Amino acid sequence: MRKKLIIGNWKMNKTKSEILSFVKDFQNEIKNLNLNCDYGIAPSSIYLDFTKEAFKDNNKIIISAQDAHFEEKGAFTGSNSWSQIKDIGIKYSIIGHSERREMFGDNNTVVNKKTSKLLEEKIVPILCVGESLEDRESGKANDFVTKQLEMALIGIKENEIKDLVIAYEPIWAIGTGKSATSQDAEDMCAEIRNKIKCLYGEEIANKIIILYGGSVNEKNGKEYLSQNNIDGALVGGASLDAKLFVRLLKVVA
Ligand code: PEP
Repeated sequence: MRKKLIIGNWKMNKTKSEILSFVKDFQNEIKNLNLNCDYGIAPSSIYLDFTKEAFKDNNKIIISAQDAHFEEKGAFTGSNSWSQIKDIGIKYSIIGHSERREMFGDNNTVVNKKTSKLLEEKIVPILCVGESLEDRESGKANDFVTKQLEMALIGIKENEIKDLVIAYEPIWAIGTGKSATSQDAEDMCAEIRNKIKCLYGEEIANKIIILYGGSVNEKNGKEYLSQNNIDGALVGGASLDAKLFVRLLKVVA
């Protein structure tokens, strides 16, 4: 049985005082709730430590990075390495988010290096894949996404992959208010699971956590998470407000 996982991606949002106010509201809202899901937040890297500390009374919450460089250290101005992330006790990182692929040159080769390094270092990669509207409308979505997945996993062995989390995020549904139908999301997540089965066998495929991301909120969350192959959500906009985020956790947990 795969446990549900909901991760909020704060992207380049929130200052220290906004984080503190989120944590206060969040802790207040989840008090007395027995949430049967794993959940977490991915703040900007500059506030990873601060957010972790702010949540020190919550031993359940996952604090995730939004990206991690595959090199240990060196001349990569503006980047944070996997080793720095590990050094501050962070155990998860989003990898290959479409915004990084589109704006920061994270192509399939880079995504493969990051995914592979994180797995080697026992940091859970939340590997994002997803097609553009053009690919969806021309009927190429399945091929595009399975190819992205295949390329991200080059060289990764069966004994390394079990901790991987995959997030299917159609680019056209991110931050747009447009969401994929639950059936379309389920079909793609089933396709992804099937690809994992072809590459690594049924047992691993049945254990891998696959999230859907793209304008998920407390109104549509339950519908997505009731699909067989959708094990959780990667949530942008609806994770910025503590009350809305907890409402989402409540409906899906
Ligand atoms: C995301 O940033 O990964 C995302 C899914 O954003 P939103 O929920 O706002 O569409």
